[in-house]
Amino acid sequence: MSDVLSTDIQFIKGVGPKLAQVLSKKGISTVEDALYFLPRAYEDRRKISKCRQLIPNQNATLLVKVISCREIRQGRKMRLEVVAADDTGRVAFSWFHAYPSLKEDFAEGNILVCFGEVKFFKGFPQITHPEYEKMTEFQEGKPKASIHFGRVVPVYSETEGLHQKTLRRMMGEVMKLSLNSLDDSLPDSMRERLNLPSLRSSFKAVHFPEECPQENQVSKFLQRIIFEEFFVLQLGLGLKKKNQKSEKAPVLKTDSSELKKFLQSLPFELTGDQQTALKDIQRDLERHFAMSRLVQGDVGSGKTVVALASAVIASGNGFQTALMAPTELLAQQHFRTAEKLFQPLGIVPLLLTHSNASDNEVKEAIRTGRAQLVIGTHALFQKGVQFHKLGLVIVDEQHRFGVEQRNALVQKGEGAHLLMMTATPIPRTLAFTLYGDLDLTLIRQKPANRIPIKTSIIKDRERHKLYAKLRERLQRGEQAYIIYPLIEASEKLDLKSATEMYETLRKEVFPSHSLALLHGKMKADEKEKILLDFKNKKYDILVATTVIEVGIDVPNSTLIAIEHPERLGLSQLHQLRGRVGRGSLQSECILVAESFVTERLKIMERSEDGFEIAEEDLKLRGPGEFLGTRQSGLPGFRVGHILRDAELLNLARNEALELLEKDPSLENPENKKIRDMVQSRWKEKLVRLKGG
Ligand code: ADP
Ligand code: MG
Repeated sequence: MSDVLSTDIQFIKGVGPKLAQVLSKKGISTVEDALYFLPRAYEDRRKISKCRQLIPNQNATLLVKVISCREIRQGRKMRLEVVAADDTGRVAFSWFHAYPSLKEDFAEGNILVCFGEVKFFKGFPQITHPEYEKMTEFQEGKPKASIHFGRVVPVYSETEGLHQKTLRRMMGEVMKLSLNSLDDSLPDSMRERLNLPSLRSSFKAVHFPEECPQENQVSKFLQRIIFEEFFVLQLGLGLKKKNQKSEKAPVLKTDSSELKKFLQSLPFELTGDQQTALKDIQRDLERHFAMSRLVQGDVGSGKTVVALASAVIASGNGFQTALMAPTELLAQQHFRTAEKLFQPLGIVPLLLTHSNASDNEVKEAIRTGRAQLVIGTHALFQKGVQFHKLGLVIVDEQHRFGVEQRNALVQKGEGAHLLMMTATPIPRTLAFTLYGDLDLTLIRQKPANRIPIKTSIIKDRERHKLYAKLRERLQRGEQAYIIYPLIEASEKLDLKSATEMYETLRKEVFPSHSLALLHGKMKADEKEKILLDFKNKKYDILVATTVIEVGIDVPNSTLIAIEHPERLGLSQLHQLRGRVGRGSLQSECILVAESFVTERLKIMERSEDGFEIAEEDLKLRGPGEFLGTRQSGLPGFRVGHILRDAELLNLARNEALELLEKDPSLENPENKKIRDMVQSRWKEKLVRLKGG
């Protein structure tokens, strides 16, 4: 970054330390930050209106001479009333506080340009709190254009203690100071080919445009700035990916007899997408650098088998596998699946949780390599756990783990391969920004034997319909979930209502059935017991909070009712719905809407495709909400919007990949500037993107 761009904003003329503090709230601490603080709107102040032609409720720019200025006492306050005129008529201005500089500026005889919304009072035009500028310079009898008048004027997002005029004046200074130091970092050839204006003219046009930009339209100048932002990030991600490819990892032979035996012993055939995923993984494992692959697949798409097949490959090569899941329940489930499916192979999996993590025998089994597959929770990456030869790390529901946690586990091996799985499908545009440094595999196809889940929305007052359906299912010996979401802010209250709901159902609605309650505040072993009992049909209905969202598998449970579905994101609803439809029975999902049914919820009735639902969710709620908390990785772009500018993002990604293809380390002199830019920017960006 040039010296000018990194200059502390407080040193800009007219700013100073006090204002700098206010600016920092807007994320502006350097000249460069200010450049990227773009106007939220524009006002066309090129045309000067005449007093006689003013139209009520419209903005107008006036050039007037002050006729009178007087203070009027109103209780304890002093109001200021100004009458001014041009050659066609008069206009009044008023302020609720008469401060000294105002009185000075509006002294009789002064000529000013004023801007504001016109109201009529007793047939007389009036503007309250107009923006104004005292005119001292004239050109051919007309006031000289300034940054506030006689041009298209930028309007910035304000904050307390920060006014439009202050911001605009500062931007004027910033432009004067920095435009000459703004160098294009994009290679000239690329700029010409893509017909992108220079960075200099782009910033100038975006802050102080010649023509008034259309509302909601992204001008070619703004596009230029956004493109660069995307391009730099994509290059950074591309380079990071390349670096990862140079991290050494064991070459694993993948056409092993163990793998064949494993696949043959499965009670089903892999779907096409599962086979493709496995092939992707095999190709990765055969290389001498570490795999870093994310498998995205909807609930029930069969990711576990693919993961277990990879573990079989590792063990066939004499390496251990660690499979990490976010909850104990999920770890136990994976453990049972592994036990069952590995039986014909003689591979013995080991379950590591917080309850047995300090068990010496367990630690010994991991340290000596006797445990070929270790399945566990966060306990896996704790200090005391030592592997003999860890070659593969599998992280299920990867978004539940931090980057450091993942790395802590990987570092227990000497260059272990990393396979991540997620059942939260991420729309392509987001995946590009969040996971641009990973290899991605999609499992979109569902196992053929799967029967679609019927989804319907009912209103709270039609609750009897739900109970009728529940009864029908229970009579056939099937089971059901009733989900009661908790929201953090009022968790205690919600938990009370979840508990009350459970009591009502148990005592009044289904007295002859057995019900259980499951929520996040329970101890792990308590939860585990309830789920196990539910799986063993000890209970007919499980009333639960969203704790069961993550991967619980009870094929005999065929109905899921979700209360207050409007509180949850579509993707989360989809996840919850995936708790049913896991066996050979027709399953059903009933959303109990509070009072009316939103368009958003209706998508659930229409679609069972997690990717489609995720796209909709992203469109409706924006990336922040979609991803949940900020920490989980809100793309921190300064100017680009991944949805509005999806096309630019695609373009930037393709251009970045192409450039790296031709010049993998950006060594070509033409690319030097962009390389410097990536180095100075992408690190900070990635930190922002991934929260660490
Ligand atoms: P998820 O992708 O949600 O983790 P799972 O791996 O738990 O899905 O698989 C869901 C269910 O589908 C499991 O009971 C699993 O045994 C079964 N399954 C997986 N693959 C297939 C297949 N190719 N054909 C039939 N059933 C399958
Ligand atoms: Mg799973």
